[in-house]
Amino acid sequence: MSAPKKGDLTDTEKELLQVIAAGNVQEASRLLGSKDVKVNCLDEYGMTPLMHAAYKGKADMCKLLLQHGADVNCNEHEHGYTALMFAGLSGKTEITWMMLDAGAETDAVNSVGRTAAQMAAFVGQHDCVTVINNFFSRARLDYYTKPQGLEKEPKLPPKLSGPLHKIIMSTNLNPVKIVMMVKENPLLMDVEALEKCRKVLELICEKCIKQQDMNEVLAMKMHYLSCVLQKCGSFLKDRQDKLESLIKSLLKGRDSDGFPVFQEKFIRECIRKFPYCDATLLQQLVRSIAPVEIGSDPTAMSVLTQAITGQVGFMDADFCTTCGEKGAEKRCSICKMVIYCGQACQKLHWFSHKKVCKMLQEQREKHEAESAARQKQAKAEGDQALEEMSSTMEDLSVSQNETTSSTDNHTEDVNSVTAD
Ligand SMILES: [Zn+2]
Ligand SMILES: [Zn+2]
Repeated sequence: MSAPKKGDLTDTEKELLQVIAAGNVQEASRLLGSKDVKVNCLDEYGMTPLMHAAYKGKADMCKLLLQHGADVNCNEHEHGYTALMFAGLSGKTEITWMMLDAGAETDAVNSVGRTAAQMAAFVGQHDCVTVINNFFSRARLDYYTKPQGLEKEPKLPPKLSGPLHKIIMSTNLNPVKIVMMVKENPLLMDVEALEKCRKVLELICEKCIKQQDMNEVLAMKMHYLSCVLQKCGSFLKDRQDKLESLIKSLLKGRDSDGFPVFQEKFIRECIRKFPYCDATLLQQLVRSIAPVEIGSDPTAMSVLTQAITGQVGFMDADFCTTCGEKGAEKRCSICKMVIYCGQACQKLHWFSHKKVCKMLQEQREKHEAESAARQKQAKAEGDQALEEMSSTMEDLSVSQNETTSSTDNHTEDVNSVTAD
């Protein structure tokens, strides 16, 4: 197959670009199956279908195109824009992540020498800047898997690079989720392995602060992850329960309202222990968290997550109560007040949730009854107002009659007066 030429589009490819603009994923999927369509075809400006989808902010479409082998680093655009740059310009963090995850180069520059992060910053898409700055490639981690200088052994055994990279790349910073990721991998369920990972994370943290273009966001993330791994290490060493008790401690809610106090305190402590006191981000985080009473909003987790991943509205969205994964849909069938990503997470949380489930149920029922009563009252008031209005209208017609008749009466009266 020859390389696509600019503007050399088949009719089906032209149709595909229209379908992408309209956001019809099903139709795009059908067209991509056609032999007349090259997934990396170029329009007259050198834009690929993926660039179009990224610029239009269509996440599902980007996913589909990547699945069909779209080249995330194509740079045929007339001004040197890449799909990552278009993603940053669109302001969609999800798409920006997707491009990075698919291997987009962060240091590619456009025809005036700007990187994707700089372009996103220029148009005020700061969440996308955060996402790009937050990205850490596998190659950068693999540096630690090779002995440096006089080292006999590398700092990170190569077999740990994959599992550690997965943790570094997680956008879900919920400590329960991170502990679960450790638990899932037998290579990480080892005190010594965890200690090696932790040290590498602290080294990366230091590098992020000391490098020329300082990256505090990434430094904070590395430090936070290192704290969680350290906690895993100490629980693994002291207790023979494969981190079960750590997960329970993190999930255990206080009696009054089920708020996970240990988790909140743990995250606050991680932030406080950040080794570079002058960092602006640290000061920002401390300012946002310190005045908040434990149990009130915002939680340390939501403040940290927003600072690192740029996710806003963290508490309102559908995040699993246990592990913090996005897109949770299963509701506790009794209280209907907490959501989970699945049964496993619900089971994990039950030992603590069962203490407040009934109370939450009552709260919800009371709240529902009150709002039903309010609605009923509002309706009754509405009905009454309507009734009054129609009766006033009747009155109006009556009083018109009355006016006539009263005039008559008056006349009569006058007459009668006269008569008297
Ligand atoms: Zn979950
Ligand atoms: Zn419940």
